[in-house]
Amino acid sequence: MYNAKAFSAASATSPLASTTIARRDATDTDVQIEILFCGICHSDLHQARNEWSSVMPTVYPCVPGHEIVGRVTKVGSAVKKFKVGDIAAVGCMVDSDGTCPNCKEGLEQFCPNLTLTYNFPDKHTGAVTYGGYSESIVVDQRFVLKVPSNLDLAGAAPLLCAGITTFSPLHHWGVTKGKKVGIVGLGGLGHMGLKFAHALGAHVVLFTTSPNKKDDAFRLGADEVVISRDSNEMAKQAGSFDFILDAVSADHDINALLNLLRRDGNLCLVGAPEKPFPVSSFSLIFARRSLSGSLIGGIAETQEMLDFCGKNNITSDVEVIPIQKVNEAYERLVKADVKYRFSIDMASLKNA
Ligand code: NAP
Ligand code: ZN
Repeated sequence: MYNAKAFSAASATSPLASTTIARRDATDTDVQIEILFCGICHSDLHQARNEWSSVMPTVYPCVPGHEIVGRVTKVGSAVKKFKVGDIAAVGCMVDSDGTCPNCKEGLEQFCPNLTLTYNFPDKHTGAVTYGGYSESIVVDQRFVLKVPSNLDLAGAAPLLCAGITTFSPLHHWGVTKGKKVGIVGLGGLGHMGLKFAHALGAHVVLFTTSPNKKDDAFRLGADEVVISRDSNEMAKQAGSFDFILDAVSADHDINALLNLLRRDGNLCLVGAPEKPFPVSSFSLIFARRSLSGSLIGGIAETQEMLDFCGKNNITSDVEVIPIQKVNEAYERLVKADVKYRFSIDMASLKNA
């Protein structure tokens, strides 16, 4: 074991602060990474504040962060994919059993023995896993990804969660040219969903509660922008969508969105608000609509997404911040005031 600097939350109500954590020494199959950038996902905030207490209670101290890009500093003897000095990335998962039907299909995110990057039992240390708000991390090579060399690293980090979480459902549900697609919420996930749906050739409508994001939405790839709190604007879109991706982090009117779907249309939730939704059966039954959900994406698909971003020069629009501003960034996330992802420059941790 060795000590690494990190930022952690000590309780649901305490701000994140500088700390030291124990990391395992690299085993034969491990890659040790010096973290250069780590994105801030709204999930980090939900978890640090224990907002998902009924499903995934938080174990403190909690070191969030699952949008990790860094430089390889050590590799185990069995590691073939990476060498010291390579740029590497880690997303939301660090382990799975590799033998269950989900793992065999490349859907590790649904493995019953999945280990998430933070706040999950760590079989190596006996504690919980600690995420990317840290100077380094040690991860089995199966869960380490390659970053195309043309991508800006601060903007590439958010691809590891916001990117794959939106890329995967758009592919799974066949979004392509000729489909009318809605993206709900212009935050970290939403802005990546917008870029991907546009790149796939769909007609994309962005739903936002923030009128001041309208110009950016068009720049990011929207064909139309709807202010979701304006019932007249919403009424004009009724019954017209093939697919809607809902990336909202807080409580909102799910039935109003379901009513925008055409017959057999599908609303996929990727957002994970604290409170459950009251879904009216009538929003579904009269047009045989579906309500679905999606969780990140498998490792092979994550690499496919990164390669797609390399080819199409897609990264996240980021505001780079030092780790000392993480608590301020969380407050701004709650107010939907991020354009469109915070990416922490981890060099700042040296001064923490
Ligand atoms: P974010 O950057 O904070 O964006 C959320 C956006 O939701 C806001 O920018 C805002 O967009 C909209 N919004 C906020 N409050 C709202 C309200 N009361 N009513 C309507 N819209 C509201 O968050 P994120 O990092 O993209 O994450 C979004 C959600 O996805 C979180 O719940 C997160 O935990 C979840 N998530 C799920 C997965 C998965 O695998 N399924 C992966 C990562 C994250 P406008 O200003 O445009 O309205
Ligand atoms: Zn995330």
